[in-house]
Amino acid sequence: MLRGTGGALTLAGACEAIAAWSAAARAAGFARVLAAPGPAGLTAEDVAALKAAGVDGLRVRLYAAEAAAHDWHAGREGSFRAASATLRAARTARLPVTVTTPLTRSNTRVLAAVPGLVADVGALGWQVSVVAAGRPQGHGAVAPRLAVAVPYALQALVAAERAGLLAAIAGAPLCLLGPLRDRAVPSPAQAFAAGCSECGLRASCPGVDAEYLRRFDAGELAPARSGEASAAGGGLRAQRLRDMFSGPWLEVSEAACWPI
Ligand code: SF4
Repeated sequence: MLRGTGGALTLAGACEAIAAWSAAARAAGFARVLAAPGPAGLTAEDVAALKAAGVDGLRVRLYAAEAAAHDWHAGREGSFRAASATLRAARTARLPVTVTTPLTRSNTRVLAAVPGLVADVGALGWQVSVVAAGRPQGHGAVAPRLAVAVPYALQALVAAERAGLLAAIAGAPLCLLGPLRDRAVPSPAQAFAAGCSECGLRASCPGVDAEYLRRFDAGELAPARSGEASAAGGGLRAQRLRDMFSGPWLEVSEAACWPI
């Protein structure tokens, strides 16, 4: 991961640096460089400049399919409008886009509307990323209760696939994903309950963040038999999702970065 952010950074002034970072990433063997705009979004000129600087695509964050919920999470009025404009500009510039939606307790019930918007703007794929309660993010106030929120996320993933998107989930315990386990993309390992040591999915599971375990214990988790391990992570779809949602990326923001 290559990440460059800065409060005083303007994109016009940064493009030379971004071009150098892109070239360095490629020289180091990275196949793609993606830019992830912040809450202020990107103008059509910004998108064109990034493309000219060698950026291969955008990773756009969208908390909801309407302004009130998105702007609340983004901590910035007008952020939804900016994100929508960014997505339109990328489509016009033919710059590939994926969209990530952090899953919080506040957007769980409006998640179902997101795939339609993501498909409408011509994005290649959509990823739901479970927000962790504990460090390093420390989002205890908005982190979702997994047994409540993950089923909504899975329903939304199915809707996304019906709309023609590749759809993934990150940061969720594999035992909560049921038959959609192969939509999980690799996430940093967190904490594990005592029962996880016997679970057949332990090697590929991100677990649960330690703060969540401390607050809610492990009652939602269901260790799998060792024979179930092969169900996770295999197959062409899983490979395509890993390719789409992993790899080096730059975060470009002219203002404060995402609070969640
Ligand atoms: S029981 Fe533990 S290791 Fe197994 S899938 Fe659930 S969280 Fe992961």
